[in-house]
Amino acid sequence: MILDYQIVYSDRKTIGITVERNRRVVVRAPCRARTETVAAVVESKRYWIWQKLRDPRKYLAKPVTKEFVAGETFLYLGQAYPLRLVETESGPVTFIGQQIKLARCDRRRARTRFRDWYLAVAKIHLAPRVASIAKSMGVDFRRISIRDLKYRWGSCTPGGTLVFNWRIVQAPPMVIDYLVVHELAHLLEQNHSSEFWNIVLVHAPAAAKARAWLLTHGHRLDW
Ligand SMILES: [Zn+2]
Repeated sequence: MILDYQIVYSDRKTIGITVERNRRVVVRAPCRARTETVAAVVESKRYWIWQKLRDPRKYLAKPVTKEFVAGETFLYLGQAYPLRLVETESGPVTFIGQQIKLARCDRRRARTRFRDWYLAVAKIHLAPRVASIAKSMGVDFRRISIRDLKYRWGSCTPGGTLVFNWRIVQAPPMVIDYLVVHELAHLLEQNHSSEFWNIVLVHAPAAAKARAWLLTHGHRLDW
């Protein structure tokens, strides 16, 4: 197996290897480390890297890069909508008539504009879903927080705060519901035990389909 990796030099003391969720291998090395030394360390960790690369939780495809150009599609609840750049003054992203619109002059801050928009729509979509699913599961949660999480779709604190990544609002409702059930189920079972998965399956019968969707399409949400 040919191993492609990126070396990031910094003023650290040791060589560290990480396999990111998009299956990119990143080797962090001290500034003065020689390339041969780095290669030898990578070689000695080959089996470990290979195992990490095979982890089913890693994406199957490379991440997408957004350019914020006209016609580029953006996902919202599993549907792809084309971007229209409009000649208006700077302002938030709008979603009207099946089109996502952004002011042309805002292209430089498009990423922030889009994140703000997704955060807002995620809140609108998730609040009633979490309330209704929590009711049918018979669990009490404290509050919902939507954030820019780096490596997770969601999490749940022991105090009952459900945290969701804004990116999940790009996924189909079936996937969002599964993620909500998953986090709520952690209020009943903290670990991923067989009891936990039984609870998830009762309340999200399409859990396997949702997880398969995330495995195949997760990279499309992560930009
Ligand atoms: Zn979990």
